[in-house]
Amino acid sequence: MSVYFSEKYRALTPYTPGEQPQDMVYTKLNTNESPFPPCEAVLKAAADAAKNLQLYPDPDCRALTSAIAGIYGVEEDMVTVNNGSDETLNFAFMAYCDASHPAVFPDITYGFYPVFAALNGVPYTEIPLEQDFSIDISKYENCGKTVFIANPNAPTGIALTRAGIARLCETNPGNVVVIDEAYVDFGAESAVPLVRDHPNLLVVQTFSKSRSLAGGRLGYGIGSRELIADLNTIKYSTNPYNVNRVTAAAGLASLQNDLVNRANCRTVAENRAYTAARLEQLGFTCTPSKANFIFAKSDKIDGGALYLALKKRGVLVRHFNKERISAWVRITVGSREQMDILLAETEKILEGAK
Ligand code: PMP
Repeated sequence: MSVYFSEKYRALTPYTPGEQPQDMVYTKLNTNESPFPPCEAVLKAAADAAKNLQLYPDPDCRALTSAIAGIYGVEEDMVTVNNGSDETLNFAFMAYCDASHPAVFPDITYGFYPVFAALNGVPYTEIPLEQDFSIDISKYENCGKTVFIANPNAPTGIALTRAGIARLCETNPGNVVVIDEAYVDFGAESAVPLVRDHPNLLVVQTFSKSRSLAGGRLGYGIGSRELIADLNTIKYSTNPYNVNRVTAAAGLASLQNDLVNRANCRTVAENRAYTAARLEQLGFTCTPSKANFIFAKSDKIDGGALYLALKKRGVLVRHFNKERISAWVRITVGSREQMDILLAETEKILEGAK
């Protein structure tokens, strides 16, 4: 740290992204990316857009915003696009949290929420998940705070119903409810149909998972036009060109070929069921995940030890050295081939652990 670093940030502990070791080729199941590359039409649109990289992109991303609005049945001014949903979430912390609107989220959830809170000097409370890692909605009712819920939650994969989200919005009329739907397309119910009736609901989604564009960095928020105007005030006060030209074109082409994405999501859901069933045969407990990852705990080996043993064998999964979940690992659901490698290596490790 330099002597010049602002007092505001000196105590900040940044988010730790999933590791990307370069020492060998790993079966990479640690950052919930799609195993499927973008389709040809997306690659072509990106290459075409690159021919105009001397020009700034459209800061409003009108073509993309309009396509998102069309797919979700909302007006164009109910959508804002950003550099990954992480940016949309940060903008929401900036826009809707302060000393009189502290943040609240579960104790086990996306690890970036406490970092965004700290970055923006926002006080926050963590509400413990239930014993089975589910969220008890009643604990968030009339809470007097800006609510952040990942649905499905990460790293558990457990989802709330749309009715549950509606209840959250109804019981917190004085605060914004932010629903982070990074993984919704793999089997959970989206809250987007609620935005017209709930002016305090902001739904955040991403192209990183179900649309195979993690490397493009593209996320968006959907909500009432007033909420979206707030987020755009923050965007235009930070970086109006936050979505680059190549990414905007790739995102648009991805939406125009959304059937491919949906088919990929179905394959991931099938591979999830297949892998969870095999892991359970091996003595694992898995949460009922609706996401593109499995959260699993072995009855024979600790989470940290399993993570290390798999890494030695060329398979990367994610382990969180955190109270309540240190026995567990989070495994991204990839292709059937990747899942078979994971299962074969896990079996060998368990044999050795006997
Ligand atoms: N929300 C959750 C729950 C996530 O797991 C992630 C991915 N790390 C994100 C948001 C951010 O995704 P992106 O910035 O790639 O859109």
